[in-house]
Amino acid sequence: MLGLMQDWRLTLDKILSYAAREHPDTAVIDRSVTQSQVCDYRSLEREARRFTKALLRHNVVAGDRVATLLWNDTAHLAAWYGTMGMGAVLHTLNPRLHVDQIGWIANHAKDRMLVADARFLDIVEVIVAAAPGIETIVLVGGGAGLLKCGRPAISFDAFLASGDEGAPQWGEFSEESAAGLCYTSGTTGDPKGVLYSHRSNFLHAFAANQPNAFGIREGETVLPIVPMFHANAWGLTFMAPMAGASLVLPGSRLDGPSLAGAINEQGVTIAAGVPTVCMGLLDHLRATGSRPECLKRLIIGGAAVTPDLVEGFERDLGVEVIHAWGMTELSPVGCISKKPVNENRRLVDLGRAARLRQGSPIFPLETRIQDETGAPVPHDDRTPGHLAVKGPFVTKTYFAGTSEVIDAEGFFDTGDIAVRDQHGSIRIVDRAKDIIKSGGEWISALEIETLASALPGVAAAAVIGVPDVKWGERPMLVVEPKADAILEAEAILAGLDGQIPKWWMPERIEFRTIPLGATGKIDKKTLRTMMAAEG
Ligand code: AMP
Repeated sequence: MLGLMQDWRLTLDKILSYAAREHPDTAVIDRSVTQSQVCDYRSLEREARRFTKALLRHNVVAGDRVATLLWNDTAHLAAWYGTMGMGAVLHTLNPRLHVDQIGWIANHAKDRMLVADARFLDIVEVIVAAAPGIETIVLVGGGAGLLKCGRPAISFDAFLASGDEGAPQWGEFSEESAAGLCYTSGTTGDPKGVLYSHRSNFLHAFAANQPNAFGIREGETVLPIVPMFHANAWGLTFMAPMAGASLVLPGSRLDGPSLAGAINEQGVTIAAGVPTVCMGLLDHLRATGSRPECLKRLIIGGAAVTPDLVEGFERDLGVEVIHAWGMTELSPVGCISKKPVNENRRLVDLGRAARLRQGSPIFPLETRIQDETGAPVPHDDRTPGHLAVKGPFVTKTYFAGTSEVIDAEGFFDTGDIAVRDQHGSIRIVDRAKDIIKSGGEWISALEIETLASALPGVAAAAVIGVPDVKWGERPMLVVEPKADAILEAEAILAGLDGQIPKWWMPERIEFRTIPLGATGKIDKKTLRTMMAAEG
């Protein structure tokens, strides 16, 4: 027997329509321009609908891919909802990738239209040459004109003005329809496209905004430092309008002083970013002795948080750190480690050290830690295994992929190696794609990195496996000293001594600048190539 409730599709346009109806005056602040611009959910919805009308005018139909090459700003948000609202697919391109790779991705996705920040004109030229399917080029922050290749580009304002009169229909399609496309950073092989559906993003926004996770509420002001091109800004541009919270969009200005300015001038209560960017903010606050007055919570994810970040924000500044683990393939939030609310329950506060763990899966994700044969490993916090996940916002096949990437039981192997304690808290100890196996045993690159990066004078640390005749592989530690710090290998080894098994001790320590990838994480692929070239 079927239930007798309404057939109400979970389509993402309903989020902005709800915000425009119930929180029409809540501010959306765009700091991408010198003079911050303020609009609200009412006017944002109007602009997003105008964007849809312009898309229709330009013959874009449901299912077409509309690419964006934009920072977090209101034009991006209007394009985001305007595209998804009519059933077309918003494809966020990451401007930090190598330009040839961006072109490859746009072509692979068969993008039909490109909306780009005019400051990225050089990249636009390469994309347009590499992706012949792009028919319309729209520039935000620039006028109309001809590209070097002779193709015309129109301004964002002119594009908006080109739409027909009348309100376009939003959400007239299945909730299973594709809504967004995001290629993973691709540390190995070609980038792969993750194709989100309306339903998956809708459910993810609910799931990742539960009180156990981000917990954003009406009256709050949210600063997504994490770009919208990095796995949907972790869902924040859906959650804020859902909650009726204000949004502050930082544009390209992600340095410490700019972020501190955004937080203090706009009264930001919750922000989210990767560790390197959050460290930049912390360094600035320390150097100037200033405090982020209204900031209550900082979501740090995309890579492991360091003890310095947790201590710096929680102990010194009174800002709660929410440590998030996730992946583009998970929409992206998977696990959360945050301060427990009730010390009498099993969630006893293990101190700030608990925030260094990746924490517990958010409802309703299922997780499993398994060995090479797929058998579950014991939950003893010691036995590592492959972390696999299953849920309504986990990918099952990559875009244009030929096979499913889930096992017979529907689990997706994240490529991360984790242990789990008896309470269900997960700790990532390594990555299968980045594993060091020495004498048939695991060495946790991540654990050595975490310890090394906490040593005095160390700005960043990375451990890579290097070939070894006897052991197969041995760990090499690459250390980036802080400005003005003079470091000796002996001091680093002394700092690690006793904290890791003797056989984990890296034989080689190199001092150099550590390359970062497009999302601000350490780029081990490049580092490995650099070190191999040096012999
Ligand atoms: P991406 O899809 O580019 O966001 O990369 C996802 C990968 O980043 C994961 O599979 C992890 O290897 C890593 N990662 C993300 N969040 C964390 C975290 N909190 N701690 C450790 N590694 C993380």
